[in-house]
Order: sequence, then structure tokens, then C-alpha cells
Amino acid sequence: MNSAFYRIFCMFLEYKQADRTGKLVDMPAADTSQTCSVYGVTNPANCVSQAHFACKSCGEIENADINAAKTS
Ligand SMILES: [Zn+2]
Repeated sequence: MNSAFYRIFCMFLEYKQADRTGKLVDMPAADTSQTCSVYGVTNPANCVSQAHFACKSCGEIENADINAAKTS
């Protein structure tokens, strides 16, 4: 996934979350939530919201809870 698309994708996720809750929520950034379940790479730049995980390293897109379950 190229970086421009990735940034737009992240903005889309944030927009959807804002749309659902009425405000943007800072998610607690536990290490597991930013660790990719494919390669086990923890990247603080990974796009993580309550419902979605997107890996900046390999482009994996996953439900955040499922990704966290795979990495724990
Ligand atoms: Zn990855």
C-alpha cells in the first residue's frame, strides 16, 4: 500500500470513528495493538482505531481485536 493511500485510509478510519462517536477518541496505545500479526513488527505509525488495524510495514488490514488476539 503506498503511503499516500495509507494516509487517506487512516483519515477515513478516523472519520468513520468520529462519525460513530461524535468525537475523535485517543485510543490507548498498548504495544500489542500496534504489533502486526503477520510479521510481528511493532510500529507506532501503524494506524490503529477501535475497530481497525492497518500495518504500515506490510499493508495488512485487520480487525484490531483480531490482530491483537493473534499477537498476544
Ligand atoms: Zn504487517
